[in-house]
Order: sequence, then C-alpha cells, then structure tokens
Amino acid sequence: PIYLDYAATTPVLPEVLEAMIPYFSQYFGNSGSNQHIFGWEAADAVDQARKTIASYFSVKPASILFTSGATESNNLTILGLLEHQTPGHIISSPLEHKAVLEPLAFLASKGWDITYIEPNHQGEIRLDQITASKKSNTRLVSIMWVNNEIGTINDIPAIAQWCTQVGITCHSDATQALGKLDISQAYLPDLLSFSGHKIFGPKGIGGLYVKEGTHLQARQWGGAQERGLRAGTLPVPLIVGLAKAVEGIPQLLTYLPQIQAKKQELENTLKKLLGERMILNSISQNQIPHILNFSIQEVDWEKLFRSMPMLALSNGSACNSKSTFPSHVLKALGRDDDTALASLRISLAHTYLNEDHDWVMNYLVKSLEKLIS
Ligand code: PMP
Repeated sequence: PIYLDYAATTPVLPEVLEAMIPYFSQYFGNSGSNQHIFGWEAADAVDQARKTIASYFSVKPASILFTSGATESNNLTILGLLEHQTPGHIISSPLEHKAVLEPLAFLASKGWDITYIEPNHQGEIRLDQITASKKSNTRLVSIMWVNNEIGTINDIPAIAQWCTQVGITCHSDATQALGKLDISQAYLPDLLSFSGHKIFGPKGIGGLYVKEGTHLQARQWGGAQERGLRAGTLPVPLIVGLAKAVEGIPQLLTYLPQIQAKKQELENTLKKLLGERMILNSISQNQIPHILNFSIQEVDWEKLFRSMPMLALSNGSACNSKSTFPSHVLKALGRDDDTALASLRISLAHTYLNEDHDWVMNYLVKSLEKLIS
C-alpha cells in the first residue's frame, strides 16, 4: 500500500533516528539525577533540545515545556489555565481537534460559558467574529492554526495580537502548522501546542510554548520536572528527536511547491473524473498544500472506503476512524451526514515520491471509475 495519510502521522526521518539512538542506551541517564555524569549528560541533551526548539521560535528556552504530545499540551493549557478559576467565558471553534473540544466540554459541565465561532464556508475562523463574541469575562481564545482535516489556515498572529491588546489569554493548537507553514517569525499566542510525530519526529513527545507571565497549574504531580508543571522522568531520546525534527523544519518548508503541484494534479484529475459529484472540502484560498479533502455524492461511504485497498488514506481524522460518525469538521462546514461520511482525506509529504504519484493517479482513477459506473 502507498501511504497518503501524513496528516495522521509521519515516519521518523533517518537523521532524527540517528540523533536519538545514543540516548536509549549509551547516554541513558535520568536528566533529573544531578549528582553524577550520567544525569548531567542527559540534562545537557535536554537543555540543548530546549534551546534548539526555543531558537526556532525566537523565544526563551524556559518557555518551552515538553509534554507527551499535542493532546497533553492542549489539555494542560485549557485545564491548567482555567479549571481552578471561577467559571467565565471562552471563545473557540467547532473545527478544533477533540483534544481541545473535550477539555472545553468538561469545563462547560463545570459552568463555563463557551462560544464556538461559526466558520465561514471555507472553514476559516475570522478575527471579526472573535472580537464580536468577546464578553467582559472572556478568559481564553483557543483557535487552531491549521485544521487537520481540511488544511485551512487561520490568521493566528492577528488573533493573538488582538488578544494581547484586550488582555485575553490566547492559545493555538499548531500541530498541523509546524513544518507546513513558516510560523517561526510570527507573532505567537501566549500558548502554542505542537507534536513531534507530525513533523517526522517520534511519537509520544510534543511541546507547549508558554509565554512568560502566563500562569498554568500542574495537571499531574509527583516531581519537579518542567518547572513543576509536568511531573515525570523526561523521555530524553524523544526530546532529542523532537529537537532534531524541529531543526529540519526549514528543509521541510522547501518541499511546499512540489507538494502543491502533486496535490493540484490529484485535484484536477478527480474533478475531471467525478464532475459535479465531487464536493471539495479543502476549499480555502488560504490552506496548506498537504491536504486534499473531498466528498463524492451518491456513493455508499463504506464502499468508497473499501474501493481503494492499496491506498492508506483517511476519512475524516484518524482519531475518529473507529467511529462511523460523520466528521465534526465537515458537519461544521455545513455538509450533510451522507456527504460528510463519503469523504476522503489525502494528505501528502515530501516522502510521497514521483513514481508513487504516477501509480496513485492511475489507481485512483480506475478504482473510482469502477465505483461510480
Ligand atoms: N491537534 C491536532 C490539530 C492534531 O492533528 C492532532 C493529531 N491528530 C493532535 C492535536 C493530537 O496530537 P498528539 O497525537 O501529539 O497527541
């Protein structure tokens, strides 16, 4: 099978793996053991990794926290910031990942008032809608930088700047933005979540940027690691791998034109084949080139999904793939249940090669012709 699901996860690049290997057994020390060289070596590697990541964003190393991934970073943000406060108001969107929506639902059950901004028909969350939703007790705006199902980019620097001006804490889940959009020089929100395994780094490691002066409370206790905000022995090899992957981001960004060209070719071919029956879901003018999401009308979604066993792609998000519910993102875009269910997300990366592409184009056309005839 050919892998077309890079928005779900990416393989670890050889140079990332190579950087990690010594930290599994040669330098295996606990970075918290400060009485011997084994601990110092591990602590040095963690310090270096934190500096590398901080310098990518031009922020202070102390503002980068290591977590197990973006899910934890989002939970730590939303609950660590707000759970201990008296309930107030939050602005977010219905297009967020479940790792934002579910902590928000938990807060709603504790009395928090949440406004979910309606996206426009391209799936964008606009600043003017956010400013219009502000209340006197708004404590947090949480909007993702890039949507994982349809690839739409939100103007997070503008949203973050407005939040700073009016004194509201701003968070963005940047999991799908990193490596696909140059956010290194951007005006950052107060909190930014990211993950290793979407940028050719290892799974089980991610980060949270926390701007100086933003006060979080710990969600787990039992150690002083990560300034007491995230107790637990640090996974040094994973941290080294995350930093190596972040170091590779400028290189990843050079592949954007070739990925855009392949995506455009896929989109044009599908349009020609399916005509009116194809409904494009990744329609924003403002989107990353990696994601092509479309629905096919008047097909059985289970048959559609089974019609291409040689392609590893997804319908909706991987996290939802065990359920048969229509994607909450496509529903929020206004698609009906059948249209949302009969959708495919093809997500690309530079490791999807030219020779794969030719084969995939042929295979897609043949499989879909059979399905719709
Ligand atoms: N947020 C977004 C936008 C994502 O795409 C994902 C991965 N599906 C996550 C959060 C969760 O990230 P992790 O796997 O690192 O917990």
